[in-house]
Amino acid sequence: MFKRTLTTLSVTAASLVLAFSGQAYAHADSGPEVEIKAQKLTDGIYVLFGQGGNIGLSVGDDGVYMIDDQYGQLSDKIKAAIAEITDQPVSYLINTHWHGDHVGGNENFAKSGTVIVAHDNVRQRMSAGLEMSSLGRKVEPSPEGALPVITFDKELSLHLNGDEMRVYHVANAHTDGDSIIYFAKDNVLHMGDSYFNIGYPFIDVSSGGTVDGYIAAVEKGLSLANDETQIIPGHGPMSNKKELSEFVAMLKDLRNSIAKLKDQGMSLEEVLAEKPSAKYDEENGKNFIKPAQIVTFIYQTL
Ligand SMILES: [Zn+2]
Repeated sequence: MFKRTLTTLSVTAASLVLAFSGQAYAHADSGPEVEIKAQKLTDGIYVLFGQGGNIGLSVGDDGVYMIDDQYGQLSDKIKAAIAEITDQPVSYLINTHWHGDHVGGNENFAKSGTVIVAHDNVRQRMSAGLEMSSLGRKVEPSPEGALPVITFDKELSLHLNGDEMRVYHVANAHTDGDSIIYFAKDNVLHMGDSYFNIGYPFIDVSSGGTVDGYIAAVEKGLSLANDETQIIPGHGPMSNKKELSEFVAMLKDLRNSIAKLKDQGMSLEEVLAEKPSAKYDEENGKNFIKPAQIVTFIYQTL
């Protein structure tokens, strides 16, 4: 399922390494080599690939509605890429969750008049900052101007550009503030980081992520999709329902194998020694999240 991701691995893996580093790496991810590439999905929906989480765009008579914004250093390039598609301003921006590679441009967009929308916990976590123990990194609190100004608890809809953009909160999945977004008429689904199309997913235990919530989030996405749905993953190339189904089947299998071992009373070290992910490692364990990490995330949250 991940075979066709190979060409983008180097860029995406590099961006993920920087993804959770906050201000400390501010100079490191601003290289002139980063190119923002647009892919048209339907008449009104685009995806932008650059460095960090994939950006979704709805473009039409009502303006530009954007999902995630990568790093602050890339905001000008992202705005330039949007300007090649339309001369409309970005009216609304939805953050799929609080990680720096998805919200890094918030302040820049807010300054130019964009209204930022996210789940309640995105604003809360951005305000507070966090010691991310699973990656050994500290994320500083965000400035006031970067915070979402419209927040919601369970779901909301934006009616725009002739479509209904349904934003669903999925609880304790990749974090505790994730949203997935479905464009009902265009049949495009943005999964945020509740779908990594580059191998094992990151489950951010420090931010409230859990394996069962992650699986439930993918299943919510699958319930919205059909065979024609174009699926934007948080990271990696465009995908579809078949690949998303394979991804969740792998996760469930891993979850159940690890649960069995944990139920026998095994410690994390003992479970790691059993290498319960071995059959998936060749295809999925060589990028951002390594086999020992996915096993640890699952063990810790069962
Ligand atoms: Zn993330």
